[in-house]
Amino acid sequence: MIEAVTKQRGIAPYFVCDQCHEIIENAGYGLAAMPQLRINVQGRTEVLHVHKGKCYKMLEDKWDGRVGSVELLRHIELLIHNSRVELSDIQKLRDNYEQIGL
Ligand SMILES: [Zn+2]
Repeated sequence: MIEAVTKQRGIAPYFVCDQCHEIIENAGYGLAAMPQLRINVQGRTEVLHVHKGKCYKMLEDKWDGRVGSVELLRHIELLIHNSRVELSDIQKLRDNYEQIGL
């Protein structure tokens, strides 16, 4: 899931593990997971975010192994692409957010 977390200078969104409810601190530690039984007639389903390893295994067990997944980094790349965001804009924003402490 994505949750808003209050920081010193404001509120910022973070990926939070749908199994252990801890923040996924680094995209390299996470997966975007889609339980296949939840795909609706339009071909859509919610996306869960989990840590690799134990948390993903718990999710697989919960859904009897019928869970698709992609690396969280790949998921973010696809969101950026599908949202028509330019990578050069992201670098500018990242520099700004780091300066203001978000
Ligand atoms: Zn977790």
